[in-house]
Amino acid sequence: MTGDATPAVQGLQGITATPILTGPRLGGAASSRNLYAIGVTTTDTGRRDTALVRRARKVDRVLAETYPDARPELDFSSPFELLVVTVLSAQTTDRRVNAVSPALFAACPDAAALAAADRTELEEIIRPTGFFRAKTDSLLGLAAALVERFDGEVPPRLDDLVTLPGVGRKTANVVLGNAFGIPGITVDTHVARLTHRLGWLDEATARQPVKAEHALGALFPRRDWTDMCQRLIWHGRRRCHARTPACGACPVSRWCPSYGLGPTDPVEAEKLVTTQGRA
Ligand code: SF4
Repeated sequence: MTGDATPAVQGLQGITATPILTGPRLGGAASSRNLYAIGVTTTDTGRRDTALVRRARKVDRVLAETYPDARPELDFSSPFELLVVTVLSAQTTDRRVNAVSPALFAACPDAAALAAADRTELEEIIRPTGFFRAKTDSLLGLAAALVERFDGEVPPRLDDLVTLPGVGRKTANVVLGNAFGIPGITVDTHVARLTHRLGWLDEATARQPVKAEHALGALFPRRDWTDMCQRLIWHGRRRCHARTPACGACPVSRWCPSYGLGPTDPVEAEKLVTTQGRA
């Protein structure tokens, strides 16, 4: 992994544990649990930090057992394809993107072909994903930049990826981690929500992707970064929903300070569990 592709991770000595008392919905059953979140700037360490690291890693191990197949739910066979489908996935479902991507990659198998694609034809292919005109602009600009600056190849460096049109840190880390095998921390809406609910990050940190990357990077070995995020995303899509989490059917509830945000009755909670992700 290149240095540029890795967040500047702070060692454990740079972490402080801060009680979460102001979480928006940390009341009721949640309030009696072990509530500590992680900050990234102070040098105070202690037993609570160690406990937080252990608890976070335990949760990740249980999620790994629960979701052994956790992986991106977008279909792709190369870094180029993952980059394109990730851009297309904004504001739509993975299923819709997966429905159009075979035709897209048959017509445009690489960056050079995509850069030379007919705009009208491209719009028609990706129309089902919504915002198709803006996405066509993004794809044409992305492909042109790949051709002009990277010989048509997707660069395996965070600093290069984020210079591409339509590519932010989230997309860049998805591509690094899942197409290049370079550990990356993807802070999407699920990761931000779950890391706060689980008491790993305070709310302010969870809302700031770069800070969240650094703080999460300090909790886990680098080799686990990509899969850990993928497991959180799967858990967020299947059980720890934004509106009503299935707390009574949650395999990590005993380590979660937000237990009780959703129904704790097992039967009621089980009804909220979905078997697939963002369909
Ligand atoms: S489903 Fe409930 S118990 Fe499980 S992680 Fe989410 S908030 Fe915590």
